Amino acid sequence: MRRVPVVLVFTFALASRAQQIDWTKVQEEGLRHLQALVQIDSSNANEARVVEYVKKVLDGEGIPSTVVSKDPARANLIARIKGNGSKKPLLIMGHSDTVKVDPAKWINFGPFSGTLSGGYIYGRGVIDDKSDLFAAMMTTILLKRTGIKLDRDVIFVSEAGEEGSSGFGIGYLVSDHWPEIEAETCLAEAGGVTRRGGKPAFAMIETTEKVPRGARLVATGVSGHGSRPMRTNAIVHLSSAVEKIAMWDPPMRLNDTTRTYFEKLAQISAPEDAQRFRDLLDPAKSAAVREYFAVNEPTFYSMLHTSISPNIIQGGYQSNVIPSEATATLDIRALPDEEMPAFFELMTSVINDPAVQVVPGGRAERPVPPPSSITSDAYHAIEQAFEHVYNVPVLPLMQTGATDMAQVRAKGAQCYGIGPMVDEEDGPKGFGVHSDQERMLEEAAFKHLRLFWEAVTAIAASH
Ligand SMILES: [Zn+2]
Repeated sequence: MRRVPVVLVFTFALASRAQQIDWTKVQEEGLRHLQALVQIDSSNANEARVVEYVKKVLDGEGIPSTVVSKDPARANLIARIKGNGSKKPLLIMGHSDTVKVDPAKWINFGPFSGTLSGGYIYGRGVIDDKSDLFAAMMTTILLKRTGIKLDRDVIFVSEAGEEGSSGFGIGYLVSDHWPEIEAETCLAEAGGVTRRGGKPAFAMIETTEKVPRGARLVATGVSGHGSRPMRTNAIVHLSSAVEKIAMWDPPMRLNDTTRTYFEKLAQISAPEDAQRFRDLLDPAKSAAVREYFAVNEPTFYSMLHTSISPNIIQGGYQSNVIPSEATATLDIRALPDEEMPAFFELMTSVINDPAVQVVPGGRAERPVPPPSSITSDAYHAIEQAFEHVYNVPVLPLMQTGATDMAQVRAKGAQCYGIGPMVDEEDGPKGFGVHSDQERMLEEAAFKHLRLFWEAVTAIAASH
């Protein structure tokens, strides 16, 4: 008998399994679940309501699940589809909480309407992160229904508190329930596909993220009568320090992910943009490119170094009193390998003013794991899934924000963010994540489900 290459056998096996799935029906079913999940108000709490819904759906499919919580209102759910155990588990996650809403700002559709209109689904959390929650849940259901043979267990987790209170969610799961969710690889939010001019342009797999760090600038001076201005005024010193730190161009440093990201972006960009990405590495031209990014492309600029944004300023209490103290609260987003004590020293030397101290701390911090590999089998499997579902180039991404993957990566898992497709212009128009009219393309929901299924089966199915 002629030998068929292993890769082909694998592809055929998956294809025949996939044929068992009636995707038109599954998409309709998934859309109903996504809308229902959006209709549950879980803004910064009440994740138990989401868990109740998910548990009921899984119960109906005969999939056992456990609910674990530090606070019953902020419940997490864990379900497991068993494999043959020859490989370590795959964890798929979606967070069940959303950020808060200002209902008055949701002019066209209520924040929890889940309305489908003009090809978009509207509602708080439809992208962040009920998109991943519904896709992970549907994938779990499809694994059960098809009975596809798995080399590894697939663990589905609905986690609470991602938006600023991860102690109820991933923090608690990792500290108190790690054996139940322990995995070699995990898939979660972030990354995704950028749609440009109505077409998918490129996909991004999130392999690492910047690390939120807190610090304050504290300026002190001599208090006195406002009629006699003093050069020692704490507000004057603070203002000068804030400007210096905000205009400072901290040392640039690339890692495997960001280097590959800019290289690949150069390959698919217009000539002028492509040249800029290449000039980043040219010592003679890099500074000018960074200044261009600082003004025009803040995301790119942030990806190049540890960044500092002064976001709260406080000082003074009466118009005729010179205050003796003024403070600025900074949002620092560190590169994964940043040595913070040395960075704070560098900041102090940039400010160069004995009246102003850099005071580290003041915010809850996530662990600082190394980036996940961009050469692992799992990464390549996800890359192929994106290429197949969207037919686009795939880039590794270092996200400037933070996610629950930080805690899971810190336990040694390789985590990849594989979000849905988003219109490039949607964010600037006010339809993006955390905005007052968060929405997702219906087509993006369908494609996301396919992507999830293909990535999960490529990583976990027996072949
Ligand atoms: Zn999120």
